[in-house]
Order: sequence, then C-alpha cells, then structure tokens
Amino acid sequence: MWRGKLFAFGQDAKTIKSHGVIDTATGKPYAQAICYMAPADVSGGTTLCANAEIAGCKDLCLNYAGNGRYNSVQESRIRKALWFKQDQESFMLAMAQDVERFIKYCEKKGFIPVFRPNGTSDIRFERIRLQSWDGLNIFERFPSIQFLDYTKLWNRTKTALPKNYHLTWSYSEASSLYASQLKPVMEQGLNAAVVFEGELPNTFKGYPVINGDSHDLRFLDEKGVIVGLKPKGNRWRKLHNGFVIRKESTREKMIRWGLTTEKELRELENAV
Ligand code: SF4
Repeated sequence: MWRGKLFAFGQDAKTIKSHGVIDTATGKPYAQAICYMAPADVSGGTTLCANAEIAGCKDLCLNYAGNGRYNSVQESRIRKALWFKQDQESFMLAMAQDVERFIKYCEKKGFIPVFRPNGTSDIRFERIRLQSWDGLNIFERFPSIQFLDYTKLWNRTKTALPKNYHLTWSYSEASSLYASQLKPVMEQGLNAAVVFEGELPNTFKGYPVINGDSHDLRFLDEKGVIVGLKPKGNRWRKLHNGFVIRKESTREKMIRWGLTTEKELRELENAV
C-alpha cells in the first residue's frame, strides 16, 4: 500500500487487480497508482467531467462505489477537486511530486509504476502545461512512464496525445448523439469501454468484447476491441438511463431516446 497527496496504490480493487499483472519483458509486476477526485460538479462550481450529463454517468460514477461509500473518502475527493480548481499550478506540482515518489517506491520494490490521473474525473491534463516545466505537461515531464485514463470526451484524441498517455473512450446510450460516436472513436484507433448488465457478450456492435475487469491496465489491450465492464456499486439497479447496457430491445431504446413513442409505434403496426 502506498499513499501520496493525490495518488494512491493498493487501496482499491482496481489497483490490486492490476498488481497481479506481470510485464512479460521484465518479469516485474505493474503497480498502478490512481488519483480519485470528486467528479463532475460534485465539489461545486465548474465541472471536471464536461460530458457527464450527455453520457448520463454522473449518478452512476465509480466515485460512489467501493471506498467511495465513506464520508471521509468523499470529503478527501472534494478537497482534491477544489485544490485543482483553485490552484492548478500547485496541484500539478504536487501531482509530479507524487509521481517521483511513487517511481522511487516502485524501484525499491521491483514494480513497474503506472499512473491513472483521472480515477473519477475527466480533465484534459494534456493541455495543462507549466512554465516551471518549460511548457511541458505531466506526461511529457515523465516521458518514460506510462499513464492511462478513461474518458467521455470523444474529441480528446483529435489532437495528438503524448505517446505515454493511453485513453479508452467510455460508451453510453444515454443519448443518441453520444452513442453515435462509437464508430468514429473506434476508427480513430481508440477502444471503447462498455458497462454491461449480466454476462459480457462475445461481440457488441460488431466488435469483439474483452473482459476489462480482470485488470485496469488498458494500454495492454489490443486495438479494435470493446472493453466490457460490470456495473459498480448499487445505484445502477434503479437508474435505467442507457449508461449500463441492459438487455433492451431497439424499440425500447428508440422510445427512451425520444425518437418515437409507444403510441406512434402501435399506430404504425396497426396500419401495416
Ligand atoms: S465522466 Fe467519468 S468520472 Fe466523470 S462523472 Fe462520468 S463516470 Fe464519473
């Protein structure tokens, strides 16, 4: 277990599972440190997740699963989010200090360090460049270290991302506009994570589905796949908004997206 000001390792299921993965080239286990902050507008003011509304993920966010059930954890995540909003430079300097400290910890233990800055946020860290780092962002500041994140921002990869920053786009059917981004995103070379109720299907929309819950090291995934995930926490059971893919018919989806109504469909069926 390791804890910095922003990142932590070994305190949740995701980092523990990723630690079970061995790098084939070095024979060393990966150690993934994640930074969890209060997502979207949970800390008040501006949002840290620009597409949370259109993706319908705010109320089903990982933020409320696992350790997120505890008030003390929520308070700590809110403090981090406010720190980021109020003093971005000192936040980024603290993030870099954590990265340096965790690299040293991993060197001593024989681990390969990996970082996920947006554990429960969707910040474009690639755009945050510090003068004190000669205009570099956090990824360029540590070019030999692997970073990864999930994102709901489908246009995030249109500008070149640093080679050591891997993104997986998170799919949702909360709106037809959001859902329609799947094909363009896959064509850009990104994988898409999809949350499924029940057993994972073999394929989804023509793409093969892999199990994304066996570990969280998404940069190891082959390209052109759907990363299948199980819903986390309990909130999803009551909220049917398209974020969790249910065994729902096309008819039910069209009604939920507001493309038609039950009445219109019945009239059409009677007319044929
Ligand atoms: S974008 Fe991600 S972190 Fe933000 S609210 Fe949605 S699921 Fe949570």
